[in-house]
Amino acid sequence: MGTIDLERSDPDFVKELARQPGGESISACFACRSCVAGCPISAINREFSPAKIIRMVLYGLKEEILKNDFIWLCSTCYTCQERCPQGVSITELMTLLKNMAVKEGYAPAGIWTQMKLVKGEGRIYPIDDFDNKKRDKAGLPRLSTSCGEIKELFQQE
Ligand code: SF4
Ligand code: SF4
Repeated sequence: MGTIDLERSDPDFVKELARQPGGESISACFACRSCVAGCPISAINREFSPAKIIRMVLYGLKEEILKNDFIWLCSTCYTCQERCPQGVSITELMTLLKNMAVKEGYAPAGIWTQMKLVKGEGRIYPIDDFDNKKRDKAGLPRLSTSCGEIKELFQQE
């Protein structure tokens, strides 16, 4: 996340987000940075800042946000949203931005791979008898080794 380039501003971006769940309260942000202070990702990566992402949204930098991988660093922990004094739904906004990035074809390769696995197999990590034996030893209930129902759901799309 380098300097902000206002040349590429899309003035309708905020309105587009404000119409969707998670984007309604974004204009209430008064740049206090409480979200950054509590963010576990900002604590280990100084380049990541929810406050800066909010600013970029307010400046209408749609393409710059959606095509960048930094939105995918958000771990959806909700700390920022709990702490925001202005009631900005920051975590939900991050999810909204991720969904928009997928729709516009900008998601990172790993996300497409995970999506393909879930749609095809119903799970990212297959469960087999070996896993269930380990679960038996740990006193945990066995899990089904097939996810046919999930696969069917995606086929009905
Ligand atoms: S905590 Fe809320 S008001 Fe403060 S900078 Fe973050 S989004 Fe804006
Ligand atoms: S939800 Fe995302 S942006 Fe907010 S504190 Fe957690 S990791 Fe940071």
